[in-house]
Amino acid sequence: MNAVVSNDPDVVTLLRAALPAHCVITDPRAKKPFETDGLTAVKQMPWIVVLPETVEQVRAVLRICRDRRVPLVTRGAGTGLSGGARPAADGILMGLSKLSRILEIDPDNRIARVEPGVRNLAISEAAAQYGLYYAPDPSSQIACSIGGNVAENSGGVHCLKYGLTVHNVLGLKLLTMEGDELTLGGETLDSPGYDLLALFNGSEGMLGVVTEVTVRLLPIPATKRLVLVAFASLDAAAGAVGKIIASGIVPAGLEMMDARAIAAAEAFVGAGYPTDAAAILLCELDGTHDEVDEQCAQVLRLMRAQNATEVRASRDDADRERMWLGRKAAFPAIGRLAPDYYCMDGTIPRARLGEVLRAIDKLSEKFGLAVANVFHAGDGNLHPLILYDANAPGELDRAEMMGGEILALCVGVGGTVTGEHGVGVEKLDAMCGQFSSAELDQFHRLKAAFDPAGLMNPGKAVPTLARCAEVGGMHVHHGKIAFPEIERF
Ligand SMILES: Cc1cc2nc3c(=O)[nH]c(=O)nc-3n(C[C@H](O)[C@H](O)[C@H](O)COP(=O)(O)OP(=O)(O)OC[C@H]3O[C@@H](n4cnc5c(N)ncnc54)[C@H](O)[C@@H]3O)c2cc1C
Repeated sequence: MNAVVSNDPDVVTLLRAALPAHCVITDPRAKKPFETDGLTAVKQMPWIVVLPETVEQVRAVLRICRDRRVPLVTRGAGTGLSGGARPAADGILMGLSKLSRILEIDPDNRIARVEPGVRNLAISEAAAQYGLYYAPDPSSQIACSIGGNVAENSGGVHCLKYGLTVHNVLGLKLLTMEGDELTLGGETLDSPGYDLLALFNGSEGMLGVVTEVTVRLLPIPATKRLVLVAFASLDAAAGAVGKIIASGIVPAGLEMMDARAIAAAEAFVGAGYPTDAAAILLCELDGTHDEVDEQCAQVLRLMRAQNATEVRASRDDADRERMWLGRKAAFPAIGRLAPDYYCMDGTIPRARLGEVLRAIDKLSEKFGLAVANVFHAGDGNLHPLILYDANAPGELDRAEMMGGEILALCVGVGGTVTGEHGVGVEKLDAMCGQFSSAELDQFHRLKAAFDPAGLMNPGKAVPTLARCAEVGGMHVHHGKIAFPEIERF
């Protein structure tokens, strides 16, 4: 790869010729909101921010970057939790929030065609008039963009039954670093050629810029009920997750909260959770009235047989909303327990839930840092929130080390280092423990096929082989996640 020419003054002139003046930002104060995404421990001021208003302007930015060899980082809403949208110091940060038009809702074919900056929730809001909605629902859905969802292959509470972003995206339009437009997938069930549509879901802004997304819409279920189940131990709650799935029921969502998360949520919003429980499960059932009644009775029976200390089904929609409130407010509620928290994201086989939660407890003791667990139990997608104080000497380092050990634990039981938040800059080292050198090399070759000069989101998602050698060799689990080359505040 040739050296990148940084801070070439002609670039600003070229950008101002291609985009309206208010879409090119160089003033440090105006650039400040773009220096970090949801991983606020890492910050980097970009050289230039551009906010294109049309796909043609996106193409112009790409061509300027290619011709002038300037690194480019694409940003949706900046809610990512792994630093995927962290800017490059000598690069352009391209925010797509102005590409926010819903281009088409087609109720007959149950699809929506939208620009990449459209907020996740806005799709369901627009489709509601036809009795339809878009199923993947990250907790950030009020803010995050569909382009960011595709780049991260985002999940959410209801992905257990309805699948991740990749299962709900039918087609994409994107621009390569060359400025060429690719159309992937479409409205039919299958398409010839390599499955590049699947490849782009979860590609973390490394291969191309998504400029249009066609998503599948589903009918809004006739009814929903939420069952709350409390347990006296984490192990019992973990075991009950397997029992529900093994019974053949596929809940719309199956979430778990531990005692610390329950207490925090109760103190914050008063959702009516039992504060003496070691863990609760929230099991949502949806479908026709008959279906939901039958499954609800089955879950209540099953859970009583699992020695649940409390089992309760929502009486009506208002009761269901209230019961969800604690789960939905869990992150901000836990945020009140300590000055900072570090939200981890790893996935494990469901059957290993109990032992992994116990091991996380031990790590909490080892590092002297409290942990709250609130997560998508049905998917085996863990979110331990490590509580720390960034101003206390050494605590951030300990939190990072502990996070690294949690991810190593996930890989050790046959899981992965990410469930839905991506790798970004956060989990580069953890990737060394997940993949062999041959596999990582193949990832780099794939990236080079789309972006030979390595200008698109450089340094993210896939670690270099040299980096892996440095952190301890391939397939050696390690405990330290570092954020090198990044200014930390
Ligand atoms: C409170 C909170 C709760 C969350 N809950 C969930 C959850 O339940 N499930 C979940 O999966 N995630 C969750 N997230 C993480 C985050 O919201 C998702 O990863 C989301 O998909 C990011 O979307 P975004 O628009 O903010 O993308 P950004 O953060 O702006 O970008 C994320 C990545 O996508 C790339 N990108 C963005 N737009 C494009 C595009 N048009 N073309 C190519 N690449 C692009 C960026 O380069 C970057 O690598 C949560 C975050 C927060 C803060």
